[in-house]
Amino acid sequence: MTDFEKIRNDFPILSEHIYGKPLVYLDNGATTQKPAAVINAIKEYYESYNSNVHRGVHFLSQKATDAEEAARSGVQRFINAAHSSEIIFTKGTTDAINLLAYSFCKKHMQPGDELIITEMEHHSNIVPWQIACEDRGGSLKVIPLKDDGTLDLAVLEKLISPRTRLIAFTWVSNTLGTVNPVADIISLAHSHNIPVMIDAAQAIQHMAIDVQASDIDFLVFSGHKIYAPTGIGVLYGKHALLSELPPYQGGGSMIKSVSFNETTYADLPFRFEAGTPNIAGIIGLGAAIKYVSEIGINNIAAHEAELLDYAESELKQIPGIRIVGTAPHKAATISFLVGDIHPYDIGELLDKQGVAVRTGHHCCQPIMDRYAIPGTVRASFSFYNNKADVDTFIAALKKAISMLV
Ligand code: PMP
Repeated sequence: MTDFEKIRNDFPILSEHIYGKPLVYLDNGATTQKPAAVINAIKEYYESYNSNVHRGVHFLSQKATDAEEAARSGVQRFINAAHSSEIIFTKGTTDAINLLAYSFCKKHMQPGDELIITEMEHHSNIVPWQIACEDRGGSLKVIPLKDDGTLDLAVLEKLISPRTRLIAFTWVSNTLGTVNPVADIISLAHSHNIPVMIDAAQAIQHMAIDVQASDIDFLVFSGHKIYAPTGIGVLYGKHALLSELPPYQGGGSMIKSVSFNETTYADLPFRFEAGTPNIAGIIGLGAAIKYVSEIGINNIAAHEAELLDYAESELKQIPGIRIVGTAPHKAATISFLVGDIHPYDIGELLDKQGVAVRTGHHCCQPIMDRYAIPGTVRASFSFYNNKADVDTFIAALKKAISMLV
């Protein structure tokens, strides 16, 4: 049995106090805290083998290169990709989607072509496609949300047309917590020969992902949501699909040869990794993936499911509570409102009691429009949270409400 209480000690920040109160960190959807294993891996890199990668023959450069490539192989194993060359390091989810939107649409989108996304997307899975459509003369179609925060997949069948080039959607909604039926969407898309891109920013840290078993064409995620540093992320793509795409950025490392007459590009993954990468971030990501794998992603999922059930049942007992997003299958994220209290006011009063939650539109303004709300309070859980955190949160929320009504 995994000792999740003991695991809390791996995270130095969890012993911090905020306004004199022990920190209860429930903003894991925005970013996760870092275990000592990740902090130490980065420290060790800077203290003992800081060097540029793929450039020097000297010892330190070789060591840094080996660490970078070990991290790439670690990511490959974690999502069960067929080749490590299918793992492209990016700055994060946003950067990975911008890369794909640019390169994919440059290759595949003609005027009049279409892309399909959903109404629950984060802005970073909307705006890059809008920009690409504007550049290429294409258009975006949107799968609508139902009242419970699930997608209306009957509409997807009608949106698909001979002009559909790609379906890009999130695995888990950062706002509603909804876990989308990835297998159903992929099989429908593939039955029309349409590739899919999955935004796994809110899935990678909560559930097992097997890109081969699920037949995923492209998948993106951010390191900082899975206990790694900020500024590092991943674009996974099937080798055949990635290798036909043009580069996104030019520069060092992404070339085979350069002359003023002709430049040829490097093979995968380097073709999409122009310039010196975030070496410390990559090493941190490698350490984070190793750390999560040792705990076991299925153990994590089970613990978080228990926390979600407990928190939702406690919240539902509060008069005036409205949970926004009641899908039958959810990750450990709860958005809510209380009566007509503004979410920001609740967030501020929770903060004063040491409880960190998120308030606002969570970079999903179309969701707020859909439900005609100004924003929500969002509590998002990690495996290092426990029932005592939920109890503190509920007590602090009741106190906040009593001060606001
Ligand atoms: N997609 C989803 C579903 C997210 O939750 C986030 C981060 N909140 C992003 C994309 C963007 O991630 P990043 O800011 O790390 O690029």
